[in-house]
Amino acid sequence: MSGNESRVQAIYQITNREPTPVETPEPLSKIWACDVFNLAKMEESLSKNAFKAIKNTVQTGAQLDAATADIVAAAMKEWAISKGVKFFSHIFYPMTNITAEKHDGFMVTNSDGAAITEFTGSLLIKGEPDGSSFPNGSIRMTNAARGYTAWDPTSPVYIMHTDNGSTLMIPCVFMSWTGEALDKKIPLLRSNDAMNKAGQRLLSVMGETEIAPLNSSCGAEQEYFLVDSNFANSRPDLLLAGRTLFGAAPAKGQQFDDHYFGAIPARVQVYMQDLEDQLYRLGIPAKTHHNEVAPGQFEIAPYFEAANVAADHQQMMMTLLKSTAKKHGFICLLHEKPFAGVNGSGKHVNWSVGNSTQGNLLDPGSTPHDNLNFLLFCGAVIRGVHLHGPLLRAVIASASNDHRLGANEAPPAILSVYLGDQLEKVFQDIKDGKLATSKTGGLMKSGLSQILHFERDPGDRNRTSPFAFTGNRFEFRAVGSSQSVSGPLVAMNTMLADSLNWIADKLEAKLKKKGADQADAVFAVLKELMGEHGNAVFGGDGYSEEWHKAAVEERGLKNIPTTADALPALREKSVKELFKKTGVLTPVELESRYEVYAEQYILSIEVEAKLVVDMAKTTIYPAAVQYLFELSSTSSSLVEMGIEFDNSVAKNVAAEANAMMAAVEKLSAAMEKENFSNTEKHMQHCAYVIRGLMDEVRVHADVLETEVADELWPLPKYREMLFIK
Ligand code: ADP
Ligand code: MG
Repeated sequence: MSGNESRVQAIYQITNREPTPVETPEPLSKIWACDVFNLAKMEESLSKNAFKAIKNTVQTGAQLDAATADIVAAAMKEWAISKGVKFFSHIFYPMTNITAEKHDGFMVTNSDGAAITEFTGSLLIKGEPDGSSFPNGSIRMTNAARGYTAWDPTSPVYIMHTDNGSTLMIPCVFMSWTGEALDKKIPLLRSNDAMNKAGQRLLSVMGETEIAPLNSSCGAEQEYFLVDSNFANSRPDLLLAGRTLFGAAPAKGQQFDDHYFGAIPARVQVYMQDLEDQLYRLGIPAKTHHNEVAPGQFEIAPYFEAANVAADHQQMMMTLLKSTAKKHGFICLLHEKPFAGVNGSGKHVNWSVGNSTQGNLLDPGSTPHDNLNFLLFCGAVIRGVHLHGPLLRAVIASASNDHRLGANEAPPAILSVYLGDQLEKVFQDIKDGKLATSKTGGLMKSGLSQILHFERDPGDRNRTSPFAFTGNRFEFRAVGSSQSVSGPLVAMNTMLADSLNWIADKLEAKLKKKGADQADAVFAVLKELMGEHGNAVFGGDGYSEEWHKAAVEERGLKNIPTTADALPALREKSVKELFKKTGVLTPVELESRYEVYAEQYILSIEVEAKLVVDMAKTTIYPAAVQYLFELSSTSSSLVEMGIEFDNSVAKNVAAEANAMMAAVEKLSAAMEKENFSNTEKHMQHCAYVIRGLMDEVRVHADVLETEVADELWPLPKYREMLFIK
């Protein structure tokens, strides 16, 4: 059997596959949110009083009394059963980037043995999965393993349909018996609260009298790759690590830029339509889709929503991207760098904060007064990024995102803020003391008219910045494609809350003085802020060598290349204090997060390293040996016949095979090292020893791929995986 049979089979299967039947799509009006028990459905099925109570809970997170919870649960059950559902599940978001579910039947038997259905308020509100089976960073020992899930009424329940039946899903928080957060939702809700409190306080210092609760919003652009599953099934690295650990660059990659925004391949369009239909049924507002830069890479972006709901929806979207791909004969790769040499995938997290009375506070608005609020909120973000750059770097740190950050295709691993030319000038003028109210001209003369005529969408989008202002929101671009958006949202809300409080303190003190002018006070505070934190503002090329040097040497910003270097920020005193004083995470909760993320980092590199050793030894080396056997037999036969034969290819293949195996030996030896004095040392070993040796093995393997006869090469090649659909 020739070595490439599985590749040939895969190509045969793909080129002869029956197209997936295209179903006529249902009209949006018919399917939109049809599987969501939202306020509209509650209003239909509940009494006026019960509806009023639940609406208040949904909109403000207020406690629901037990009697109303029973009524709501009963209505939920009736609705779900009418749609063929027999099971319900609390769904929650542990500290991994995935979701967890615990399913229970509505069914109970009565004393006559007849099956009846039951779903009480307490079943809706509280569940008890095993707290110790999820990563908890030693908060929960197995001997005290009780963990609780509790319904988050601000995120609606919905029905998830799968081939194995339909389940009523109840979004939940997940905490320990002692009340510590074990999940990604609790800190997000708390950070939103902290931001709301600080925002209301600042607005009231600014003299606003009617101030509705503030909420953060999120719209996340998700990039992903699709590879035919026939190929993926012959690549253990794609199946187990989600990325290729080997693979030579194809003759044609992305250098023609012909994939970006090109026509979407027909088979992928069918997939997207199927996916979007499911999203619409779940009330997830999928808005745009297109090809991305790399061949085989695509993007989907929903319309933005309240951050908590957007985070739940984002998790669901990642689940559906994968499950729908399977149905269409693809594997969906959410990994940040599935293929070396072509662009990786990110997740741009668009974020803003606002309320129903003042609107979006990151929108410059159309009156000078709006402008002042805007400048303060925007200034608060600048201060946050400057003070807490390392925290922002830590919340996007993962073994897989390390491949992308700083690799000249994604933002650098230095956190700076891009404001756009106009706004950068405004803040520079404030810093230089050029922008202040003139007693005669008032606000408009002060230069604020610049912002009134602010161009919402300046043409020169700076793609090289990790954190960019884009007209009415900030876009955090360094987030990885496989990551939960919650961590970044928590960090942004929390640093904003802290900075809003800092500004409110300063402003309050200035305004207390007799005859103080509000605009003067605002500019004075912002001037001080820019003097201390303006170094984070950078509008140039984030990929350039000069910036990497200047950022660190002249501006004092940190360049944090790997997760091993980034995660320890979670143990910094300043970060502990930030989370403690805003009430978002206790020191114990923060420490547990550090432990969980560090462990995940180490584990994922160890799994990859094992795979590298395994594939090099059992798949790649045998192919090289087989080729050497063919070359050497040919050579000796020819020499016997008196025909000259050039042995240089054989020599080269032998040399590369030997070098690869020598690197495998070194890698195996490095993997045996244990007994690290602490987790940081262990992470450093992974980042700077193991990862380097994995690359060393790969270099030789990839040369072999370009030398060994194609018909002997066992692994699907880049040109096949990226281009055959
Ligand atoms: P681009 O690719 O140009 O960045 P997209 O339209 O693909 O733009 O994505 C922009 C994302 O930002 C969408 O999810 C959109 O809903 C979201 N967005 C727009 N306005 C806001 C806002 N005020 N707050 C948060 N997200 C927003
Ligand atoms: Mg974007």
